[in-house]
Amino acid sequence: MFTREFECPSCGGRIESSNPGSRSVSCGYCGQTSHINADNLQAVGSKNLLIDYGSILSLGRTIEIKERKFRVMGRIRIEYDDGFWDEWYLNYDGDKEAWLQEDDGSFVLFSEKKGAGALRLEQDRIQVGSTLTFAPEFQKVFVTSKSKAKVIGGEGELPFTITPGEPADFIEGIQGGRVISLEVLPTEVRLFMGSSLEIEQITFNH
Ligand SMILES: [Zn+2]
Repeated sequence: MFTREFECPSCGGRIESSNPGSRSVSCGYCGQTSHINADNLQAVGSKNLLIDYGSILSLGRTIEIKERKFRVMGRIRIEYDDGFWDEWYLNYDGDKEAWLQEDDGSFVLFSEKKGAGALRLEQDRIQVGSTLTFAPEFQKVFVTSKSKAKVIGGEGELPFTITPGEPADFIEGIQGGRVISLEVLPTEVRLFMGSSLEIEQITFNH
């Protein structure tokens, strides 16, 4: 497996990255998040070791959902008014990506719809309970939640740069049984499409 080794700019701890596409890593010793530059790491944001509240997932674990095997690469924790949730970053079939959202025991498996950065949204006009069109293929999405949130920190490695402390707005909706999630970061807009899972649908290989 591809592996790169880095030294944490904050504590000197060893950090491994096994995905060539990773853009951020978080130190397992001190909780420092860093952006991956050509050959070194640049520390960003506040240090934050994520507290584990008994999730069934953990870094490096292999899980199986609907007969597909995923490897747990990293996670982001996001804080909002009512608490927090985690987004687990998964790899499958080599370098393909998926996200498993874990919010107080409920799970949604998402895949990203690339190219959503071009979406133009009048966010202020988006309201819970209203129906809107995100893009030609996402018509009549019923908006179920809209929250002002903040990235608290990360763990492991991630395919884009995060900066703990940065604001992020989340809009979630449903369309034909699918969950549509829109993540509005200061630098980009990311669109995800997913389906809810029962915990029994997630199995562990070891
Ligand atoms: Zn460190």
